[in-house]
Amino acid sequence: MEAAKSALEDLGSWRRTHYSTDLSPGSDGEEVILFGIVASVRRQGAISFLILSDCKGLIQIVIDPKVGQDIAQKARRLRRYSFIGIKGRARAMDKAPRGVEVAPTELKILAIPSKDPPFDMFGRRVPSLEKRLDIRAVDMRRPQVKALFKIRDSVVRGIRAFLCERGFMEVNTPKLISSATEGGSALFPILYYDKEAFLAQSPQLYKEQLVGSFERVYEIGPIFRAERFSTDRHLSESTSVDVEMAYVDYNDAMDLLEELIKYVVRRSSEECGEEFKLIGVEPMALNGAFERLSYGEIFEDLRERGVPISWGDDLSAAQIRSALEGRGGFFFVKDWPTRSKAFYIKPKRDDPKICEGFDLFFGSMEIASGGTRVDSGELLRSRLIESGLNPISFKYHLDVFDYGMPPHAGFGMGLERLLMVITRRENIREVAFFPRDPSRLVP
Ligand code: ATP
Ligand code: MG
Repeated sequence: MEAAKSALEDLGSWRRTHYSTDLSPGSDGEEVILFGIVASVRRQGAISFLILSDCKGLIQIVIDPKVGQDIAQKARRLRRYSFIGIKGRARAMDKAPRGVEVAPTELKILAIPSKDPPFDMFGRRVPSLEKRLDIRAVDMRRPQVKALFKIRDSVVRGIRAFLCERGFMEVNTPKLISSATEGGSALFPILYYDKEAFLAQSPQLYKEQLVGSFERVYEIGPIFRAERFSTDRHLSESTSVDVEMAYVDYNDAMDLLEELIKYVVRRSSEECGEEFKLIGVEPMALNGAFERLSYGEIFEDLRERGVPISWGDDLSAAQIRSALEGRGGFFFVKDWPTRSKAFYIKPKRDDPKICEGFDLFFGSMEIASGGTRVDSGELLRSRLIESGLNPISFKYHLDVFDYGMPPHAGFGMGLERLLMVITRRENIREVAFFPRDPSRLVP
């Protein structure tokens, strides 16, 4: 062990000149410095063939003892999963992956693992998700998992680009809060100095407060929910894409959400062709408008077909599936019963039993919820009371409304839920870096 450690070298003055994917047959003769993990070692006589994996892809490295005894000796010590740097020349090679390989004249061994991961990092057999999550950082060195997170990154950058172009300002709202944002989902209590506080379940009220000055805001941030779920579509800590805008209503919010999803789906499929191949998925093509059904239509349809439901109930995944009769894809359900939605969703002026709220579904999975918001302080107070909440706990919020608020609407979308759809993963944990659920708080 000590001998192995002492053989390790420092980075020194070496700096990467290329990623593996920057090289092609046209790079023949170029001087390069590459870094990465040894994905495989194969020896043919005195020659060592390595596959080097960096964050972008794989490249073949050929170490020939004719270059020097020093490098040949080091190469013999190399084992799989070591971190190395190499300096040498690229050369075109038909038989190598991507038609190019590198013949190094110098090699630095930067780290030699003291143990092997509990699964083959570069193999085809997929270990169980639980086993992978136990050592998630190493799991994320697997090319297929890296591909998922590159798609995630492309989607997040797409959301930012789209909203920035539409004049939205990115904001940050507090995650340490003194009271619930709304009834319903359970909060994680924490100790805030000597007082009880909570982790925020949604930026809802703060993003509404911000439209009073900035008019168009969005936040991509964590939300915390202490529900004791046991599903494959919930996390205790997930990422919410929250959008709020002034002087519009829920129809505009649905339009924006639909355009946003179409934009990021298209952009990620253009940017991540290789990554979709790696995860074995054909990128989605979204043609046509998302259907907009009303709660009333779904309710009548379910009742006619004898599905038990009483007006005002939330729609379960099973009910949605039944109402859809095999229709897939994205669709909105709008005009929900006022009592089924949070107090801040605006009841319709001509029929206050129904509110201007909507959910976006993909199949039977909810992707986003939104609506026109209540903008009158007086109505907000009475909606709080009707929803069984205490207006005193919301004084900090109601105070703002006393100074007047513009009409506004928006939505909150689950980033990981959208990623499940785009990458066709059945389990939300696949698309979260370090997922948290009722039975997992590490790593
Ligand atoms: P669900 O009924 O699916 O639990 P919700 O209606 O409680 O969701 P909202 O409060 O409407 O969720 O939150 C907005 C969006 O955030 C949801 O549509 C969903 O995409 C996402 N989301 C909410 N809770 C979670 C969670 N625990 N894990 C992952 N995503 C979530
Ligand atoms: Mg919802």
